[in-house]
Amino acid sequence: SKAAGRNAVRFFDPALQERALLRVALQREMRHGLRAGEFVLHGQPIVDEHGRVRGQEALLRWLHPVRGLVSPMQFIPLAEESGFILPLGQWVLQRACELLAAWANDPHRCSWTLAVNLSARQLRQADLVQTVRTALKASGADPRRLKLELTESQLLHDVEDTISKMEALAEMGVQFALDDFGTGYSSLAYLKRLPLAQLKIDRTFVRDVLDDPNDAAIARTILQLAASLDLSVVAEGVETAAQFDTLRAMGCRLFQGYHFGRPAPL
Ligand code: C2E
Ligand code: CA
Ligand code: CA
Ligand code: CA
Repeated sequence: SKAAGRNAVRFFDPALQERALLRVALQREMRHGLRAGEFVLHGQPIVDEHGRVRGQEALLRWLHPVRGLVSPMQFIPLAEESGFILPLGQWVLQRACELLAAWANDPHRCSWTLAVNLSARQLRQADLVQTVRTALKASGADPRRLKLELTESQLLHDVEDTISKMEALAEMGVQFALDDFGTGYSSLAYLKRLPLAQLKIDRTFVRDVLDDPNDAAIARTILQLAASLDLSVVAEGVETAAQFDTLRAMGCRLFQGYHFGRPAPL
């Protein structure tokens, strides 16, 4: 057949074949790795304009016994592709809620929020609302401390379904942040319909905010947009004091990046 012919041609390329085999191996090893406790949540601090920690973003790490630390940039897309992101994402939500419940008894951490990244596949999952509710109930975590991060592109699928799920979760007190903001295509009218609490300025705009007037203008525009929609803003990828000062002068009040802390075990 035509399809078999195409595959046959593809497999004459040894580099492609090697990549395909690596993908298959990683898919299998991920399933084993979750059972074996190889996944851990790291946290990166989110600080206010005084540099005080106000919360953390949970960032998933895979400590592979042979391959070493595998980046989420490598395994999340594979997990999305195979559907394994559903059990993996459920584990992340459970772990995050357990951490929140533990923080509630810690005077230094009881007011922190914990942000969790949701994948596109999780958002389309029919029982997402139930999964989050169960993780919250089982741990006793305060829903208002849980923040779910979504990207603009994820919201483009089945807008009505997404909004109804977000509303059900927001009703429970869960907050939503729009991740990597500025890299997608959000219209103002559309943003207004979503129960959002926060925008996160993508780190590509933060990187050159001192040198590139276009990036500075984008950061300023996002801050104005957020103010008019009554949303908070986190500047992502802040690596220097100069970036921090510039963004603070623009009115930004929350920051995340290597300047304040790298992701570390929670
Ligand atoms: P993200 O959600 O945009 O997360 C921020 C990424 O920026 C993290 O990479 C973080 O380590 C990195 N970062 C933070 N501060 C700085 C900085 O100052 N400079 C630079 N250059 N980078 C900085 P990480 O941990 O490798 O995660 C990559 C992506 O993997 C995340 O991007 C997110 O999309 C995804 N991811 C991570 N954990 C999860 C998860 O539990 N579930 C899902 N669905 N996706 C996840
Ligand atoms: Ca994120
Ligand atoms: Ca981001
Ligand atoms: Ca630029």
